[in-house]
Amino acid sequence: MAKLRFMALKELLNRKPLYIDDAGRPISEYFGRNVFDMSKMKKYLSTEAFNHVMKAIEEGSRIDRKMADQIALGMKAWATENGATHYTHWFHPLTDATAEKHDAFIDFNTVGGGVFESFSGKLLVQQEPDASSLPSGGLRNTFEARGYSAWDVSSPAFIVGTTLCLPTIFISYTGEALDYKMPLLKSLAAIDKASADVCQYFDKNVTRVTSNMGWEQEYFLVDEALYMARPDLMLTERTLMGHSSSKDQQLEDHYFSSIPERVIAYMEDFERESYLLGIPVKTRHNEVAPNQFEVAPIYEEANLSNDHNQLIMDIMKKVARKHGFRVLFHEKPFKGINGSGKHNNWSLSTNTGVNLFSPGKNPRTNMQFLTFLLNVLKAVHDHQDLLLASILTASNTHRLGSNEAPPSIISVFLGHELNRVLGELEETVPDKKMTPDEKTFIKLNIGKIPEILLDNTDRNRTSPFAFTGDRFEYRAVGSSANCASALIVLNTIVAGQLKRFKIEVDALIDKGVKKDEAILQTLKRYIKETKNIRFDGNGYSPEWLEEAKRRGLYNISSVPEALEAYLTEKSKKVFSENDVFDPKELEARTEVELKKFIKKIQIESRVLGDITINHIVPTAVSYMNTLFANVHGLKEVFGKTADFNTMAGDMLDLIKKISDHIQHIKNMQANMIQARKRANKEEDVHKAARLYNTTVRPCLDEIRYHVDKLELIVDNEMWPLPKYRELLFAR
Ligand code: ADP
Ligand code: MG
Repeated sequence: MAKLRFMALKELLNRKPLYIDDAGRPISEYFGRNVFDMSKMKKYLSTEAFNHVMKAIEEGSRIDRKMADQIALGMKAWATENGATHYTHWFHPLTDATAEKHDAFIDFNTVGGGVFESFSGKLLVQQEPDASSLPSGGLRNTFEARGYSAWDVSSPAFIVGTTLCLPTIFISYTGEALDYKMPLLKSLAAIDKASADVCQYFDKNVTRVTSNMGWEQEYFLVDEALYMARPDLMLTERTLMGHSSSKDQQLEDHYFSSIPERVIAYMEDFERESYLLGIPVKTRHNEVAPNQFEVAPIYEEANLSNDHNQLIMDIMKKVARKHGFRVLFHEKPFKGINGSGKHNNWSLSTNTGVNLFSPGKNPRTNMQFLTFLLNVLKAVHDHQDLLLASILTASNTHRLGSNEAPPSIISVFLGHELNRVLGELEETVPDKKMTPDEKTFIKLNIGKIPEILLDNTDRNRTSPFAFTGDRFEYRAVGSSANCASALIVLNTIVAGQLKRFKIEVDALIDKGVKKDEAILQTLKRYIKETKNIRFDGNGYSPEWLEEAKRRGLYNISSVPEALEAYLTEKSKKVFSENDVFDPKELEARTEVELKKFIKKIQIESRVLGDITINHIVPTAVSYMNTLFANVHGLKEVFGKTADFNTMAGDMLDLIKKISDHIQHIKNMQANMIQARKRANKEEDVHKAARLYNTTVRPCLDEIRYHVDKLELIVDNEMWPLPKYRELLFAR
């Protein structure tokens, strides 16, 4: 019965690392080879077309049709010379993956027959994929089926295999976003404008502000043979059952230890693929949990960085199979073991080369730094609910807020030095006109912020939103997420806040308050108003839960409840005022997310039902029968003696235990089906999602409890599914 499990284990013993041939080759020799980047555009485009594209990238101007034809021609020439036979619009629909539909570069010759390679500006700029099965939240009726994909000039085209991929946005016929990219681009435009306006107080040369992102992608590797023997991993990416292994991460001996050979070979392979696509991968290491790893790039402009993250996830999945691995991006594939996140390191930089989250050399640049820091604090404080909504999903909620730490509470870590600075500002800035002495004193104080705040002793690994010296690190983002979901909210709320700040400061200036004083007074008020969101202590401790409650911070781990944050008047206002989402789009998106949540739980519930009834219960019954046979055997040998009673007694106890667990599993399984039926009848998607959360989801845990108990009792030789020790330590 346990054949598959043991075959898998045997297969594993024969695995060898699969090194790539040219592992030691300098990366700079081939970095970006498969990207239609600036140097290739220069080579393949006329000067006119090149300048046209650059203008579109830099100023967001439109690509005109005539130019589009020229660009398409150049792109096609480069692509076909580099082995591409097909092209696709590559986009980020509201699913967990990117989408593509390939077309060959061919067309019929009008004279002389045969075909030729063809690609036009029209096909480059816009397409109408029949994407009627992708989620739209009712924005697009299936019978209309019209969704458009349109070229995002700001992210360069690239070749994967034999296909030229064009990063695109995906919108409905009436212009509503059906993807992650379009609102991300809008939020980036909003924060660019709002930040540049605020920078005018400090430096008139700032005309443009860019959002940067550097992600840290955590993942698990599981041997492919073992993965195939676990239907739950195959279908849900997480183990729905499995007793903890005697050893897992207690010794913390995996973190930063030497990377296993097979894994190194895998990393080198997918990194090379990434370099070819211009993804600047920089760091690789073991993570805390066994078989958990991390990869991180050098940071880039946020939209490009997010494309690169989506792309690398795809590459990692493909390359893993070559190495006999499966890569798991699920936030919590294993119960009781660290989950996987995707820290979004985020910063803002100006066209003058200044990082707005880096303290400067003098009081003026430091005032600019404090302005941006406090506006982020204020935005995070005022929109905690949206930040939670942007990262909570059916899978990430296992990592945040379910039984294990960390909780689903947003707080900001600033570190000792900044807390000191803010404390002093709060005390010293007067609400009235400053005396010259006060002015000098404050200027001196602000000037004293150390230029380098990066201090490794001051890092707090338990904060969901930490200031780490020259950037914010949004750690609550899930490993399987499209980072855009979090970035859209972050950029929008900070843009909205910066606009508000400008209005408030200008109002004071209009009343005759000097600019510097107006800024300081406003910042001082923000310091007071955002105190509750600042927390430098242990975010995983039970005391923090209590403290956060006293402070009135949000603590929502239920996905359906969290998602409602998108629909409050306050949220609708900030999204529409910054031209990111209109209320209709917000409603559609929330519906898509709720449906996604329902489907994920529904699938887990079905898979668990299947495994317990068809794998676990029969195994337990077989083992019970072995025990029965034993009891009979003992009786034949010993008769009804005292010896028999002792020996058979133990076995009968065991039989009773097994039978109890089986009964519980069967009952819970029946309850779970009933709960699903009730929830499926509910037409209101908000209510249905809540029912799934409160009535179906708990059954999964209860059934698991009994299955895991059985795993401890049943003969190891009979147990059909690879155990935690095998999944976590085989590599
Ligand atoms: P950690 O200690 O958090 O692992 P790392 O030095 O490994 O820190 O950096 C993590 C990530 O932070 C990388 O993806 C890196 O590109 C990114 N990063 C560094 N500086 C910035 C910045 N100014 N803006 C955005 N991301 C940044
Ligand atoms: Mg980090």
